[in-house]
Amino acid sequence: MDASRQSLILVRLGEVTLKGLNRGKFISRLIGNMKRRLVDLGQFDIQQSHSRIWVRSMGETDLNDPELMAEAVDRLSRVFGLVSVSPAICLDSDLDLVKQFLLDYAEPLVAQPDRQTFKIEIRRVDKTFPLNSYELSCELGDLLLNQWPERLTVRMQAPDLTFFVEIRDRIYLYHDIIEGARGLPVGMSGRGMLLLSGGIDSPVAGYMMASRGMIIDAIYFHTFPYTGPQALAKVEKLASLLGRYAGRINLYVVDFTEIQLELNEFCPQEMLTVVMRRVMTRIASQLASQTGAKALITGESLGQVASQTLEALAATDLVADKPVFRPLIGMDKNDTIAIARRIGSFETSILPYDDCCTVFVSKHPKTHPSLKDAQEAERDLDMDQIVEKGLENISKKEINPHTTFNQ
Ligand code: ATP
Ligand code: MG
Repeated sequence: MDASRQSLILVRLGEVTLKGLNRGKFISRLIGNMKRRLVDLGQFDIQQSHSRIWVRSMGETDLNDPELMAEAVDRLSRVFGLVSVSPAICLDSDLDLVKQFLLDYAEPLVAQPDRQTFKIEIRRVDKTFPLNSYELSCELGDLLLNQWPERLTVRMQAPDLTFFVEIRDRIYLYHDIIEGARGLPVGMSGRGMLLLSGGIDSPVAGYMMASRGMIIDAIYFHTFPYTGPQALAKVEKLASLLGRYAGRINLYVVDFTEIQLELNEFCPQEMLTVVMRRVMTRIASQLASQTGAKALITGESLGQVASQTLEALAATDLVADKPVFRPLIGMDKNDTIAIARRIGSFETSILPYDDCCTVFVSKHPKTHPSLKDAQEAERDLDMDQIVEKGLENISKKEINPHTTFNQ
């Protein structure tokens, strides 16, 4: 490796976020989360200074490898708490070296047909550097214009290309600013238990709560063989896609078949969905107490389906012994779909494997069930025993968002 030049990653933090919260805690969480997200890619040194974090490769690991750089940048851009990410090059503070390197750096960028205008943006932190910002930007700008006189022109407002040059202990050069996930670092806001189905909504709900700093546990009610192994594989896949933002997720799979059949037999059909939801909520609540989760999270949205009317949601809330967070409650489905597309869960969510709610759906569900209706519908059920059965038939799976790189 050429010691005078080193690839690294520059990460920006939001100033506003930092003022409002305990800054030290925020940063150490964030750095811990970044380290965990990169752990299988190699050895990295991650340091913070002011509102920046610098990620450098160590030992055998080398961010000069473009494939490794792309993977690391992609992963970091999904870590909540950071505003943007730039792959950068660090050079010795030597003007000739910088000029020579800038030409190599710019060549493939300038070759792209949509890149005709550019500017140089200098940030001079080291005030002892011989040229001031204006002089340096002229010097480097002229260099590029002389090299590609036919192709390039300078434009200060919205150029196709901006070369950022920062003069600090060494000189840092970059051009790409990739938007980060923003939000709060996962772990700042406790732990939540996400009711994760195979649909579009619940992964988005989990994403939204993770963006506010919650660690996500997930619970899935599986009704094998009415819902096949593909339905479970789909939920696992969704958990791993969500994990690219939320980090590692413990997925709890409840074998729900016996309970579901019992509900089917002893519950009035028009109340089946609400009762099923209340049973799921009781089991999830108790499991949450065991895992340390202090809230439940669902993908429900007001009025979306019969089980999501105000009355149905209220009847469900009453059996939860902790707050139920429904981040999609006021959202339009199209906006939820837009988020699902952006975070990459949509394509998996629309795979056609049913979840238990679609298999055991009542034909004419009661849309405005009172609490009394729900209690009456549960009269012939031994609820304690049902919940216990649910809790006894849970298997835990640790979902890691990244399969080992290069495998
Ligand atoms: P989704 O797209 O998330 O499945 P949905 O609009 O299809 O939501 P429902 O199927 O009525 O709505 O489910 C409402 C919520 O209940 C889901 O968002 C999810 O949080 C939870 N839920 C539904 N089915 C299951 C299941 N089998 N396991 C765990 N949670 C579930
Ligand atoms: Mg669903």
